[in-house]
Order: sequence, then C-alpha cells, then structure tokens
Amino acid sequence: MDYQSILQEIADETRPLLSQGKVADYIPALAEVDPLQFGISLTLFDGTEYSVGSTDTLFSIQSISKVFTFTLALKFYSTAIYERIGREPSGNPFNSLVQLEYEHGIPRNPFINAGAINVTDALHSHYGEMADTFEEIVGFIRAVAGEPSITCNKTVAHSEMEHGFRNMALANLMKSFHNLDNNVEKVVQTYFRHCAIEMDTKMLSRSMLYLANHGIDPITGTVHITPQQAKRINAVMLTCGHYDASGDFAFHVGLPGKSGVGGGIVAVIPKLMGLAVWSPGLNAQGNSLAGTKALELFTTKTGLSIF
Ligand code: GLU
Repeated sequence: MDYQSILQEIADETRPLLSQGKVADYIPALAEVDPLQFGISLTLFDGTEYSVGSTDTLFSIQSISKVFTFTLALKFYSTAIYERIGREPSGNPFNSLVQLEYEHGIPRNPFINAGAINVTDALHSHYGEMADTFEEIVGFIRAVAGEPSITCNKTVAHSEMEHGFRNMALANLMKSFHNLDNNVEKVVQTYFRHCAIEMDTKMLSRSMLYLANHGIDPITGTVHITPQQAKRINAVMLTCGHYDASGDFAFHVGLPGKSGVGGGIVAVIPKLMGLAVWSPGLNAQGNSLAGTKALELFTTKTGLSIF
C-alpha cells in the first residue's frame, strides 16, 4: 500500500478543519500553542516509518501518557488493579467528580482523570518511597518509543499544578474513600508530570508497536507485557480512549485509540502498525478535531479498521 500518498491525501483533506478546533485553555501553558499545526505518522513492525506534516514537533502528550501508566500498572498488579479501578466507559467528561462520588471513589476506568491518578498512586506504591516514580514512567516511555531524549515540559507541569484544583479534588475524594494510598499532592504532581511529557508523532506511532504485537516490541524483541494484557489495554482504548466520545471514535475510526488534550491521538492497528496524529484544535469533547477526522479517513481509505 502507498502509505505516503495516503497520508498526504489525508493532510490535504483535513486542512480546512484546522481552524475549526479550539486549543485547550484550561491549562494556560497549552493555550499558547498554534492551532494550525498538523502531523501524522505511522510505524510498521520493521521500523519503517511514514510521516506527513509537523511530525518532528514536540507536543504535550497529556492523556496519551495514561496508556503507558496503565500498561505498567497491569504489568505489576495484574487483575488485582481492578479492585481499585473499573474498566467501563464513563459516558462522562474526563474530569467529572459526580460519578466518582456515586461510585464510592472507584473510578470507572484508567483513562479518565480519576482513574489515571489512581493508577499513578498504584505505581507510587509499587516503586516505593525511595524511587522516583516519574522517572520510572518516563523510562518506560523512552523504551517503547525507542527515544532516550523524551522528557517532561516543566512549564506545562507547573501550569497544570497551579490550576489543578479539579484533579486535586478527584484525588482527595478518592482518598476520602480510602482508594488512594500515598500523599495526594505527591501523586497528583507525578500525574501532571507524566501528562506534561513531550513527544512527536514519529515517537508516538513507534511507541504503539508493543500494543499492536501482543505486548512484544517487534523491533527490539522486548517482552513488555503478556498477550492477554495487551488485549485488555487495546480493549480499554477502544471503549474508553476518548472520554464521552469513545463510542463516536469507535464508530467513525474503528481502532483502539487514545487522545490527549494536547491534540495528539495514538491508534493501534493490530499485527500491523502504530499510528499517531497531532493537531492542537479540539472538538467539544476535548479530542483533536482534525486528528479524529484524519484517522477516520485513514481507516476508510486503507480498509484497515479492526472491523
Ligand atoms: N493533564 C490533563 C488533565 O488532567 C489531562 C487531560 C487530557 O489529556 O485529557 O486535565
């Protein structure tokens, strides 16, 4: 298949949408990003990569980091992780407090904010007081992306912490239900730091290969997780990867995927490739507007959806 031409067509067809999205401004440091940017990359199992647009530009991966933290939590806790978080779509905005109250401090899934904060807490417990949990997380991301330079943008992390009242509230609510073991501020700080990690679409598409290949990195041969765990992560990406627009994404794109409010979206084509797209303008549910359309066009043009 001529992937390069297909990606170019997609970039051309989505261009009119770039000005229609709205950059996330609840994190002030993200509000400064130019919304008219677009990049799309795919990486095959032999490492061959195709890219069009701003694919070397680093951006804030935000909630895409939750795929990696959930991977680590499943690896260390296996199914015991489901004693503290669910795996059902929330049907609610990503930062909703109401559902968490009704459901006694057990977040619906690992990809809404409460669930991801809970996962970060579990990782703090696993690594222990003496370790730097953030460094462990970013170390894993560097490994799956094959890129040792990956790090977090301190300005963005700081900006999130300064305005993170709602996330602090979610964490405190879980603590009140005895579903958060470590210091609230410390856990939320690590959460913001992993959200503020910066990558480009090339690195992100490469980082999805272990999920496309039953938990094994097809380039290095490293076994990150079991095939069963990879299956579960893909399933949760399909059902919960786009907040209350998860059904819409499955309907239009038909791939396991995860978005972040920085405008990035990753997707997995099982047994074939990792995909990543970036465009900072978001739709009403907080997902990249042009990015979602680009992935829809990709599966339509190639026939490569999982359905
Ligand atoms: N750091 C962001 C927050 O907690 C992540 C949200 C997202 O990417 O959806 O609000």
